[in-house]
Amino acid sequence: MTADGPPEVLVAGGGLAALCAAIVARRAGASVWLLDQAPEALRGGNTRHARNMRVAHDGPSPLVADAYPEAEFRTDLRRVGGDTLDEALAARLVADSVDLPAWLAAQGVAFQPRAGGMLPYSRRTVFLLGGGTAMVNALVRTAARLGVVVRHGVTVADVDPGGGVTITRDGATRRIATGAVVVATGGFQANRGWLRETFGPAADGFVNRGTPHADGRLLRALLDQGAMPVGDAARGHLVAVDARSPADDGGIVTRAEGMTDGLVLDRDGRPLVDPAAERGSPRYANWGRLVAEAPGQIAHVILDAAGLARLGPRVYPPVRTLDTLALAACLGLDAGRLAGTLACHGPGGGPPWFTLSLRPGLTFTGLGVRVDDRARVLDGRGRPWPGVFAAGMIMAPALLGGRYLSGTALTVSAVFGRRAGEEAARHALDL
Ligand SMILES: Cc1cc2nc3c(=O)[nH]c(=O)nc-3n(C[C@H](O)[C@H](O)[C@H](O)COP(=O)(O)OP(=O)(O)OC[C@H]3O[C@@H](n4cnc5c(N)ncnc54)[C@H](O)[C@@H]3O)c2cc1C
Repeated sequence: MTADGPPEVLVAGGGLAALCAAIVARRAGASVWLLDQAPEALRGGNTRHARNMRVAHDGPSPLVADAYPEAEFRTDLRRVGGDTLDEALAARLVADSVDLPAWLAAQGVAFQPRAGGMLPYSRRTVFLLGGGTAMVNALVRTAARLGVVVRHGVTVADVDPGGGVTITRDGATRRIATGAVVVATGGFQANRGWLRETFGPAADGFVNRGTPHADGRLLRALLDQGAMPVGDAARGHLVAVDARSPADDGGIVTRAEGMTDGLVLDRDGRPLVDPAAERGSPRYANWGRLVAEAPGQIAHVILDAAGLARLGPRVYPPVRTLDTLALAACLGLDAGRLAGTLACHGPGGGPPWFTLSLRPGLTFTGLGVRVDDRARVLDGRGRPWPGVFAAGMIMAPALLGGRYLSGTALTVSAVFGRRAGEEAARHALDL
């Protein structure tokens, strides 16, 4: 890909983990290629869609309010990671989160001032100015300026545990010998076949909120060659999204709201949860799973005018129906039965009704490869593969177990991306 021959460090991926790894390896003196299978117009993987990043800090700063001590971050990780939390990785994640905003700013990334714009109060996360896309653009610019060779439309098809990779581009296959490899290719949330293997036919009703290029090909290749798995494929992070969302890449604007302000019915007109027992915000995080378990993986939120007012402006506005008969026709339900359900459990007001249909939206999957705290990929007996490193969502299940702790996915990607880049350069340059 350059006249100078193969790189000392080859990075597979194109999101935050890959970009951090490439920049750090290059700054350490290695020649670096970053190969992303997405076309340039879709560069940045799921990172494009993200907006905030969790960081520990001892006091207020221009970017973040109050304090979020390291001990509290570790406690929060234990809450989501449970028994499966890798304590060594958690300690590394938390300690190395502290200087992330300053380090990323030094690479050209801009953050929102904490009281700026429409931001919610946050003492745990910093917000990216221009979101993940602006961060990706800044990091690509920095990587290119440093001399990283960045190529899109190139698939890293396989990694040799003994060193080297196989790549495919425009149908041609080529083997490349390289000193070290960083695998930062995310999860498998775009791989419909693998989702079906994991979730059964229900997977056909899922929406992938992020990149269509997260096909998990390298994850599978590493596991097939004996890398130690971590997490559980069936533990993906799901949220409820509008049923009109595109199958891939709809991003954050597709997330559905209003479930706690209205009545949610399944395809057959039955309340999805017991409306009396389940009122209130705690159930919010569960909606993705509930819709995934519902018949046909679809559900409908019904709001009255008061619920609509609380919903605010939407990319996908609710459908308005003048009366219960029209609502039943719109949802394909029996009008008499729907009238009865609304009388018992309805939102409180009367028609007109406003309705949104929901699908389960997958943010990331919960299966990965196990790494040590130097980001080295481990084999089935816990021994590191020489020269093979992993960073980002492909190793995050050891920390998150497929669950969600707001802003932490970006922190994992940046912390272990930097770590993998540093270790890969050290390995390749024999330092
Ligand atoms: C809608 C949405 C909103 C989110 N919001 C937040 C948020 O606010 N805060 C937060 O912390 N997290 C958020 N996340 C999660 C977060 O964006 C990701 O988990 C994180 O960015 C993953 O980074 P990554 O580098 O591991 O992978 P990605 O950014 O997904 O990058 C993976 C890259 O690998 C490439 N690739 C895949 N396979 C190959 C291959 N075989 N060869 C070459 N390249 C390959 C892909 O093209 C892609 O560029 C959000 C996710 C979504 C979908």
